[in-house]
Amino acid sequence: MLSRTEKLAQKDSRRSVARGRRGFSLLELLAVITMLGIIAVVVLPRILYSKVTAQEHTCFQNRAEINLAIERYNIDNGALPTAMSDINNSTWFPGGIPLCPVSGTAYTLNGTKTRVDGHTSGSH
Ligand SMILES: [Zn+2]
Repeated sequence: MLSRTEKLAQKDSRRSVARGRRGFSLLELLAVITMLGIIAVVVLPRILYSKVTAQEHTCFQNRAEINLAIERYNIDNGALPTAMSDINNSTWFPGGIPLCPVSGTAYTLNGTKTRVDGHTSGSH
């Protein structure tokens, strides 16, 4: 049978061992995993949405650049181009006429308006 002081000393000894223990408890790990999950749920959709938005803006700028090339062709030649190959020169498009970054398809010339419009599947 231990005396009261011996029991207290034994209890303090266990506490000091518990305080010196390294690592995480299950509750701490669950709390961290839950917080990371919440952050992922909030942040990931915004990142994915901003990527699509950036691609749509790039598509819009590509179409504007192609339409400017059509105007330049008209000024230089006195006539509007009849096909995309008419404006596909290395001075205006050193890397070739860009493709739509969203769908990866080539832009087509609208024969009636002599402009490159948005894609038929979407407004981008
Ligand atoms: Zn596009």
